[in-house]
Amino acid sequence: MEFYTQRQYRGPLKAAIFDWAGTTIDYGCCAPAGTFQDLFRRNGIEATIAQAREPMGMHKRDHIATMLAMPEIARQWEAEHGSPHSDDDVTRLFETFIPLQLKALPNFLDIIPGVVNTVDAMRARGMKIGATTGYNEEMMGFCQEAATREGYVPDVSIAVTQVPAGRPAPWMAVKAAMELQVFPWESIVKIGDTVTDVLEGLNAGMWTIALTKQGNEVGLSRAEVEAMAPGDLAPRVERATQKLAQAGAHYVVESVEDIPPLLDTIEERLARGERP
Ligand SMILES: [Mg+2]
Repeated sequence: MEFYTQRQYRGPLKAAIFDWAGTTIDYGCCAPAGTFQDLFRRNGIEATIAQAREPMGMHKRDHIATMLAMPEIARQWEAEHGSPHSDDDVTRLFETFIPLQLKALPNFLDIIPGVVNTVDAMRARGMKIGATTGYNEEMMGFCQEAATREGYVPDVSIAVTQVPAGRPAPWMAVKAAMELQVFPWESIVKIGDTVTDVLEGLNAGMWTIALTKQGNEVGLSRAEVEAMAPGDLAPRVERATQKLAQAGAHYVVESVEDIPPLLDTIEERLARGERP
């Protein structure tokens, strides 16, 4: 056969899947960053905030393993404990992490400005709303409860403990899509604030939007952002933009408020036969 037909989806966007911390609640993704530093300090390790934030978005056990493998942290660990860290150490640290995170979490559940308006705009165009997170189900429950009080109620929410593997694997996004009963994957946009969020969306074959100013890559609370001189903030936003764009995000914007115009842009691309 000389000619083949390529099947193309040219319909509208049908769903958005949002990350939780740093994307819809907890401006700056400050809850886990501080807890990881606290956890390592309790084990004799001074982890920098940059080290604590680098693997953000992963399953928290994978996050701990990734931090322990960083050369500077591995060196401190060996000096403190007399041998390289083992898989049992990862397990023990993860078991310590869970209650520390649950204790800190209630202080970091403020909804991020613009979430409700953006979700309303999506629902008005017929989109369903999903959520995924590197938190376990109990931590996610705190997020859902607080967000519900503020008027943000996704149709489904999937915790990392409900799938075989966390980000960068696509399973949470895929499970959310399945529970929303939405397909094809190119009719879905995944939104998050970390490199692993972007990879989750790309691995699921979805459009990806990454957020800078309000998320983990700039890594500042709302009060810190508001107090910072524009000249100091701009280079941090620029660095985050470069990093998330290099990870492969289709769009990188400062905040969740910047998303609605992108939905038209993505639908125009779909209408031309483009895929993520
Ligand atoms: Mg996040």
